[in-house]
Amino acid sequence: MSARRPRAVKRAAKLRAFLQWSPLPIAIALMIFGHAWWGLGIILGASLFMGYAILSPTTRLFGKVVRNLKEADGRNEDVWITIDDGPDADTTPKLLEILEREGAVATFFVIGMRAEKNVELIRDIVRRGHQLGNHTQTHPASRFWISGGRTMWAELSYCQSTLHNICGVVPTWFRAPVGHYNFQTHPVAKELGLRIASWSSRGFDAVRKDVSKILASIERDLKPGAVILLHDVRPVSAEVLEGTLKLLKERGLKTRLPGEVSTPQ
Ligand SMILES: [Zn+2]
Repeated sequence: MSARRPRAVKRAAKLRAFLQWSPLPIAIALMIFGHAWWGLGIILGASLFMGYAILSPTTRLFGKVVRNLKEADGRNEDVWITIDDGPDADTTPKLLEILEREGAVATFFVIGMRAEKNVELIRDIVRRGHQLGNHTQTHPASRFWISGGRTMWAELSYCQSTLHNICGVVPTWFRAPVGHYNFQTHPVAKELGLRIASWSSRGFDAVRKDVSKILASIERDLKPGAVILLHDVRPVSAEVLEGTLKLLKERGLKTRLPGEVSTPQ
């Protein structure tokens, strides 16, 4: 993966930046020529559109995102467990043990910077038959939504290179930090051969501490084809994964990765 953006990505970035900012001069011109309310309306409308598009993890306003297994591979059966933000020397081995004990598989959307510090864990994830996903190189959660084309390219391409250098795997799935996108995300992901994964079931385990509340939220949206969002690194990570796998067992749901057969749970 090159540090330089390919020309196609630069072109897409320019076009999208133009689309993003073009309502502003139109609105200012309308205000100057005596149509203040029209101008304000355009600014408000564009702001609402951008705000919704940026903050909604399932939105397709910027491009395609995968929200369930049917959208991933056409089969609305089993569930896809995804685990974000690792690896971590303390929690990831526990998650791997639980998955192995229960005969389940998952995609680990890892942060490149953390992967560099835990190379053996990354190799262990792959060795045990799980999948690695790209979750950016530095996980810039608070500013990912305002990232320009150059930063977006760096975050995604460096993470690809990091994982490839560690274990020879080039991820095919990307998950955006906090599920935020902007006009630059999709062309960069496409150029790197990455599909964008959102989710359909989550328990807000990155912020909540009460495991029963986390599991209740996950259970509410649990159905065949669900993409379950879990987090590594948190004190509750292992307990939440155990609870989630128990819920799956109760409902007779198996886990699988997109495009693969289900686990013999
Ligand atoms: Zn994250």
